[in-house]
Amino acid sequence: MVHGESMHEVARSSIPETQSGMTRPLLALALLFPALLSAQDANLSAILDRRAKEIEPKVVAWRRDFHQHPELSNREQRTSKVIAEHLQRLGMEVKTGVAHTGVVGILRGGRPGPVVALRSDMDALPVVEEVDLPFKSTVRSTYNGQDVGVMHACGHDNHMAILMGVAEIFAGMKASIPGTVKFIFQPAEEGVPTGETGGAQMMIEQGVLDNPKVDAVFGLHVFPFDVGKVSWRAGSQMASSDNWRVVIRGRQTHGALPWNGVDPITIAAQLVTSMQSIISRQTDLTLTPAILTTGYIRGGVRTNIIPDSVEMGGTIRTFDEPTRDSIHVRLTRLAKNLATASGATALVEIERGNPVTYNDPSLVARMVPSLQRSLGKDNVVEGRVTTTAEDFSRYQQKVPGMFFFLGITPEGADPATVAPNHSPKFFADEGALVPGIKALGGVALDFLSGMGRVSSAPRVMDSRGSLGR
Ligand SMILES: [Zn+2]
Ligand SMILES: [Zn+2]
Repeated sequence: MVHGESMHEVARSSIPETQSGMTRPLLALALLFPALLSAQDANLSAILDRRAKEIEPKVVAWRRDFHQHPELSNREQRTSKVIAEHLQRLGMEVKTGVAHTGVVGILRGGRPGPVVALRSDMDALPVVEEVDLPFKSTVRSTYNGQDVGVMHACGHDNHMAILMGVAEIFAGMKASIPGTVKFIFQPAEEGVPTGETGGAQMMIEQGVLDNPKVDAVFGLHVFPFDVGKVSWRAGSQMASSDNWRVVIRGRQTHGALPWNGVDPITIAAQLVTSMQSIISRQTDLTLTPAILTTGYIRGGVRTNIIPDSVEMGGTIRTFDEPTRDSIHVRLTRLAKNLATASGATALVEIERGNPVTYNDPSLVARMVPSLQRSLGKDNVVEGRVTTTAEDFSRYQQKVPGMFFFLGITPEGADPATVAPNHSPKFFADEGALVPGIKALGGVALDFLSGMGRVSSAPRVMDSRGSLGR
């Protein structure tokens, strides 16, 4: 794929020479067709970059509207309506109600080519906004039975505005686009309310990657980093995210007579500390980082009663499937054996969540030059792994995909100390919107017009080699 891209670049840069210096008609004829295509494609990129700047005021307005009207996961009714109306106005085939409130727009270009999908998430979080903005959210809603404030504290408002911008620009150059673009607006990235289904998995089950079949998928996420810069990574980029829950059942007794019962609190305490040895002693940390966190412990009601049971739970984060499976097995073994050693029992449940966000290395190799062209070399940097997770990974399990980060930290502020995503003080500099459109639109156009398709060879989820630096 790298070879294909470089051939493409050669063809682009050689247009004037070919046209002015053609002395041998046969050679000229052989070069003419790809040269014309390349000229057309380079022109599309130029139009994208120019139009992105022109429509900036509209994109800012969309973003502010979404920001002021945030909706929780699986409740994105108004958001969905705004997006669907926009795509319909642009003349796209639009499907609504996908995975509850999702919207999919299909733009069929006037030239033959592959199918690329661009994905934005749509949901906000149960957070009370503490940023003083004229378009600050004051929305309240109910989340799992609790009254909560609602805020776009993860910046999905930016993602939607960027993708609506790309849609508007692409609709205007439809006849020249070599292939098909699917615009995927996906609900419930942050996770569904208790007892519900949704998100990327449900979009896939409802056929979002079929008819026409998607060849590659791209997405971006805003995060604290220099505004307008992009950070990419080949292979594993974001963690898998699984929940564990353990119930230790002992035997209730008087707090002064522990020998008359089985104390589950002591066992829980042992488990909290012992489980860290799964990471520090049983995981090869030269190959991959991993995280095992206890997030809650519940047990007991008063000082002089040793309770019957303790419930505890937390999260597991890994960057490859073998490590993920290994930690599941070891945690289960440890909890059960620790309990047995003290005469108690342990019920262990592990709920598999999002898989590793895995960027297809050959696709990344092809697309990094595209990002560099769109934003300038200095604004495109290779990033580190991040232990947060994304359900974009679900699409990547089905088709080659690339996810990248877009910086939103204002100039003069330190990305290391600003409020992170999910904070009530999370702030996104709107200066990132135009670079976001150029980057996402740019990789889509370059993928569609690129020579050769992404390899359909089976992909290996264990990306240990890429983490070995
Ligand atoms: Zn989030
Ligand atoms: Zn997010």
